[in-house]
Amino acid sequence: MMVDTKLKRTKIVDIDASLIGRHLFLQGWIRTSRSQKGVVFIELNDGSTIKNIQLLSNQEKTLLTGTSIAVTGKLVASPSPKQPYELQVETLEVIGEADSTFPLQKKGHTLDFLREIAHLRPRTNTFGAVARVRSRIAFAVHEFFQQRKFFYVQTPVITSSDCEGAGELFELVTETKNFFGKKAFLTCSGQLNGECFATALGEIYTFGPTFRAENSHTSRHLAEFWMIEPEMAFYDLKQNMDLAESFVKHLVKTALDTCQEDLSFFEERYEKGLKQRLEVVLNRPFERITYTEAIELLLKSNIEFQYPVKWGNDLQSEHERYIAETVVGGPVILYNYPKTLKPFYMKANEDGKTVACMDVLVPKIGEIIGGSQREDSLDKLEKGILSHGLNPSDYDWYLDLRRYGSVPHSGFGLGFERAVQFITGIENIRDIIAFPRAAGLCEF
Ligand code: ATP
Ligand code: MN
Repeated sequence: MMVDTKLKRTKIVDIDASLIGRHLFLQGWIRTSRSQKGVVFIELNDGSTIKNIQLLSNQEKTLLTGTSIAVTGKLVASPSPKQPYELQVETLEVIGEADSTFPLQKKGHTLDFLREIAHLRPRTNTFGAVARVRSRIAFAVHEFFQQRKFFYVQTPVITSSDCEGAGELFELVTETKNFFGKKAFLTCSGQLNGECFATALGEIYTFGPTFRAENSHTSRHLAEFWMIEPEMAFYDLKQNMDLAESFVKHLVKTALDTCQEDLSFFEERYEKGLKQRLEVVLNRPFERITYTEAIELLLKSNIEFQYPVKWGNDLQSEHERYIAETVVGGPVILYNYPKTLKPFYMKANEDGKTVACMDVLVPKIGEIIGGSQREDSLDKLEKGILSHGLNPSDYDWYLDLRRYGSVPHSGFGLGFERAVQFITGIENIRDIIAFPRAAGLCEF
């Protein structure tokens, strides 16, 4: 049976009850198929939505899960309460067969197993839903900044400077020896480059891949992840925090407004109360607590943390989560950390001990945003570079931004996968990115 090509293809996401009685042309992949009294019931999915459409066919050949087909037929009201409508197939063409070796023939695979077949896992409900939400949230990132007249700047992936001075960089090796005439790395942040444009265009953002060779096997760290880094001239720390809060809220609101079906799936399968949790994020101001206050709260908790709590020690995930989950019960912004814990470019506070930085922490994950006001005094910045054991001549270009028309400015970095983790309730960050790269993991 050949398909009637005069019909235009309809995507499953665009089918609703108003199309009952119409002839449709659909293309997609079979999720399940079973026959009963000479009728074959096929669940078809085309990726446009988590929803399948039920096809009724009198096809004789058994069609296995994974087979791609094109069908035409009439949309009719369904007698079953499970779905409002179904398609009575008139023509069915097999485009690509799938046999019993297709790894997704059976349902109920674990996320661990699916990670080993990253090339096929987009065909599951979970990874289809993650990919759709991710796409929508990426669009919302641009929407948020473009509405505010920020400019999107594409900063380089290859860099010769180590922004954090943390020694977590991937170094590039080339066949042509010394290709760049100096050491080169995959970027771990676009911030320093971003500052060059913020101090020219005013308000900019970057959105691109970021690399960290941290050997951490956590559910929150990838070796390759995507980061959004806005940078704003004339912003102080308070304005930076306000922007970060509005930004997170915009992403959450977008998910609630435009990803209802996928969120319902996550709610049903992965996290009870997910939508309620997201609604609460929208409706409450993010609490703001200084690092010093956070240390006091942690000491008062009488909990035996694995890592000791002491002013001057960095906060670990267990501390961050205690503050976000138990003390606040929602997103919280911690600010003014000890300068010894932070990179050289953060603005010194007047107390001489802390810097004007902030982290946005959320329940279950911990940090999703890290940011600061940048040091705009040439003198203090040079001293900061030295006290961090770095060489000011390597940062001469960066110091120029303070030599010529220096302005107070601020910015932050949001880990895109951590944001999508927060929005979907999916526990492991490796299930948020299409092809995860982490220590010991680089498939396809
Ligand atoms: P953490 O302490 O959680 O390792 P960080 O302080 O090293 O994070 P920043 O350098 O402040 O992170 O980077 C800004 C944001 O980028 C973080 O708030 C987080 O959302 C994200 N991020 C950082 N490292 C990773 C990673 N390895 N994988 C995924 N996202 C990351
Ligand atoms: Mn950070």
